[in-house]
Amino acid sequence: MNSELNEDTGEMNEDDDDDEEEEEPKEKYDVDDDEGFSVLSDLPVEMSERRPTCRRCCRPVKVCLCPYLPALPLDVSTSLYIVQHPAEESRVLRTVPLLAACLAPGKCRVFVGRRFSEDRNPDLAAVCRDSSSLLLYPGAAAESLEDLSFSSATRSVILIDGTWSQAKDMFLRNPLLQLPRQVQLRSASSSQYVIRTQPNNMCVSTLECAAVALAIMENNLSIQEVLLRPLRALCQFQLQHGAQVHHSKEQLLRSGQYNKAMPRNKRKIRRMQKLISNQNI
Ligand SMILES: [Zn+2]
Repeated sequence: MNSELNEDTGEMNEDDDDDEEEEEPKEKYDVDDDEGFSVLSDLPVEMSERRPTCRRCCRPVKVCLCPYLPALPLDVSTSLYIVQHPAEESRVLRTVPLLAACLAPGKCRVFVGRRFSEDRNPDLAAVCRDSSSLLLYPGAAAESLEDLSFSSATRSVILIDGTWSQAKDMFLRNPLLQLPRQVQLRSASSSQYVIRTQPNNMCVSTLECAAVALAIMENNLSIQEVLLRPLRALCQFQLQHGAQVHHSKEQLLRSGQYNKAMPRNKRKIRRMQKLISNQNI
């Protein structure tokens, strides 16, 4: 369960990890439904109540993070493919738009959905089938990215963007995502993304994972610094405006500070026990 501060209402948003509703995957920014548009354009115009949004960083203009983005997008040879749970797209505090804004156009493509297939997502399927592609997802079969050597050939890295349980569900239910070589990060430090509760200290936000992975693959540590700058600024801003630092569940459980009612679901209790004992989950 994650909580985050809603910038519009000042209230905390809670989301449900176990939402099983089926939804058609769609590729973001692909609007070619002319028929749908003509129907929509016939509707009376209604002034939006939403605050204006910055087109580059996708943040409300008042809290635009563009000053923290690199002056020129980073020109990396690695391409990122973000497979994003639909709930992630509507979050107030999203990190993927910041990541995309830091990178050259086309270097960070986002696919929104729960289920992905060859028919519906041919581009993503081609990446998954490419033997040089990597899936950044921890697990028993995952090799440490730090241990691999990279030739000059360009590579694709696929990341799953969602809460811990959403990501696990998407991995298990999509055979396509099980095709690429699976890698994990040994060097990922405790999450800087303190506004959202992370299931454990090693589970960092998608932006942090991508920053560490790109720095390793491009053999350039400064990439990590550049990508983390807007995230640090975002956390700083949220903390100054009343958001509380969320320690990971692991930290809270260990220090006896986890004060949410224990879940009745046995699977969840087992998962929490595994978190405490630091077992592979
Ligand atoms: Zn901006």
